[in-house]
Amino acid sequence: MTSSDDRISPLHGAGGELMAKLLAEHVLPHFDKSSAGRIGLSALDDGATIQLPSSGELVMTTDSHVVKPIFFPGGDIGKLAAAGTLNDLAVMGAKPLALSLAFIIEEDFLIADIDRIVRSFADTLAGSEVALVCGDTKVMGHGELDGIAVNTTGIGIADPAISDADALPGDIIIVTGTMGDHGMALLAAREEFRLETELMSDVASIWPMIQSVLPLGGIRAMKDPTRGGLATALNEMARKSGTTLEVIQADIPIRGAVQGLSDLLGISPLEVANEGKAVLIVDPETADDILTTLRQHPLGEHTAIIGRVGTEYPGRVVVTTVVGGRRFMDMPLGDPVPRIC
Ligand code: MG
Repeated sequence: MTSSDDRISPLHGAGGELMAKLLAEHVLPHFDKSSAGRIGLSALDDGATIQLPSSGELVMTTDSHVVKPIFFPGGDIGKLAAAGTLNDLAVMGAKPLALSLAFIIEEDFLIADIDRIVRSFADTLAGSEVALVCGDTKVMGHGELDGIAVNTTGIGIADPAISDADALPGDIIIVTGTMGDHGMALLAAREEFRLETELMSDVASIWPMIQSVLPLGGIRAMKDPTRGGLATALNEMARKSGTTLEVIQADIPIRGAVQGLSDLLGISPLEVANEGKAVLIVDPETADDILTTLRQHPLGEHTAIIGRVGTEYPGRVVVTTVVGGRRFMDMPLGDPVPRIC
């Protein structure tokens, strides 16, 4: 049995003693001395300061997470919130400097679950030299929210930033691993399915892996294939650059279990989210070095070249199928799995 002390009450979001106690006991200890400047998290001031490096451009990104279920095979909403923001910075070529963490929590949410989420968020930041510098907590009543929503904003520094728009004809298209793991794992874990599978989300911070290839140069465009999966990422990159992205279906890495569930449910693994992968479009001169370096990283062991950039159909993605036919890979209307992140 849990007592009322073990659950979130409206007062936990009311800015008084109870909120201060929640932060002091369940949040701040995970981010001891976390700071990116003179005034850090523990100051509990109205804002935090960030010491800027002497060169480069600031990159800022924000993301809200409403994933269902909150705890899933391979991760939880805390890991997803940290990785999602770090990865958006990473694929801009930005070293993360500082993050914020804001919770909107439904009344009666278990405080033990807040602990798990915060610990998981903190563990995901470890190894990235990034500081949590500010946050916020609000509580909504029963039925006004489904458990918890988490918002994270991140600031990083890039020198220079890498966009997702600058693919050039002749460039090589690389993915850093198997596609569709997060989306299919979430789908399998949903209450309405309760499928017994070995599927695990790929959610992870890819910054350390991306950091290892940035010095090689030659990365023309980069993107994390989250909502809408690889199909959405490639279509956006093709449209923005006005090139044709030509991919070979047989070269796209997909786990057997992901393909199996995908066949069963009629959902393409190329249209569902990944949360620990990147798509890179690179200069052919550096493609081999980038491939080798990515494969040396534990998160990149299944890195593969999946195609190249052409000019035949500007703004479109063309797939060569396993039987040798060619067809367009269209932009999905949206991710077929709702509340995926
Ligand atoms: Mg992104």
